[in-house]
Amino acid sequence: MSGLCADVRRFRLLLRDVLTTGRTQLRHRDGLLLSVTDGTHTGWGEATPMPGWSPMSIDSVAVSLAAVSAAVSVIDDPADPRLDHVLDDLDRAPHARAALAGAIADLRARRVGSALSATLGPSPAARVRVNAMTSAENPDDVAAFCAAAVDSGFESVKIKVGLLDTASDLRRVAAARSAVGPDLELRIDANGSWDVETAIAVLGPMAELGVCFCEEPADGIASIAAVGSRSDIPVAVDESARCVDDIAEALGTGSIDVVIVKPQAIGGPDMAMRAVRLTTEFGATAVVTSMIDGAIGVAHALHVAAASGVNMAHGLATSSLLSADIGPAPEVSAGGITIGDEAGIGIVPYDTLPT
Ligand SMILES: [Mg+2]
Repeated sequence: MSGLCADVRRFRLLLRDVLTTGRTQLRHRDGLLLSVTDGTHTGWGEATPMPGWSPMSIDSVAVSLAAVSAAVSVIDDPADPRLDHVLDDLDRAPHARAALAGAIADLRARRVGSALSATLGPSPAARVRVNAMTSAENPDDVAAFCAAAVDSGFESVKIKVGLLDTASDLRRVAAARSAVGPDLELRIDANGSWDVETAIAVLGPMAELGVCFCEEPADGIASIAAVGSRSDIPVAVDESARCVDDIAEALGTGSIDVVIVKPQAIGGPDMAMRAVRLTTEFGATAVVTSMIDGAIGVAHALHVAAASGVNMAHGLATSSLLSADIGPAPEVSAGGITIGDEAGIGIVPYDTLPT
């Protein structure tokens, strides 16, 4: 045996439609696929930083992963604790860390014939509920989207808000509610668009429409906590809490009830589970989401969601936004994803990646 062998390949995934999220317009997702093999088994990881969101570019992630490839080549055994030191060196490069931690976790799980989720938590779920998501501007389109989501079995829909004026957002959410009745869980995501007073003013009527929680009503932990302390509905941190320390700060305010955990952005499945456990210890709710990752990243997030012990809809129904993918994405049916009994993340990428 001559050491683990790592390989990095670049890909580009076009989105079916331009997606506006926060301040960014997305047309495609650029990423890197990492494989780590011990000669018998191969683990897969993905790094897909998001421009305008992530602190690092795809090129800087590529540099980090090239250094990783050299570091792992002198290690024979995937269980070798020196790999954890290699991960520690990537603490400031969360997407590169997500790729390596994901590949190592996948490799270790495949070697013991276990699903990744079973290596992350004590009693992983066999099926994870997921939410649909819309940013349609017209209230009729939002209503039609929600009705179609219910027809296909979704129990939760997230509506992006904050891009239009608040009266328009209220009309959009009201249209959704009247189209689907009281049972569908509606959640909203303002991506930090509002100031504190605007958020307080709009979340009162949103509560009357039965909105379950609001992600990032304002920008930054302090502002979100200020909203949460006065809001009629729970508030969530997402992009304002990018690492475990940020999440601890957010939970420490006592006014933030939901934490969005993105394994891709926080540094991989192990780091995401740390965030989930911390959130649960505070009595708050962790919702696991992809970052519109490729299939490998979505699969890692799926296994984190399964291991989380959180029976909420998680934000993993994102693969249908892509016109091509790097592998067979976990299949959404009837508003959920069932985890098979295959080892590791349960999928392998295609031989040829979209570029
Ligand atoms: Mg969000």
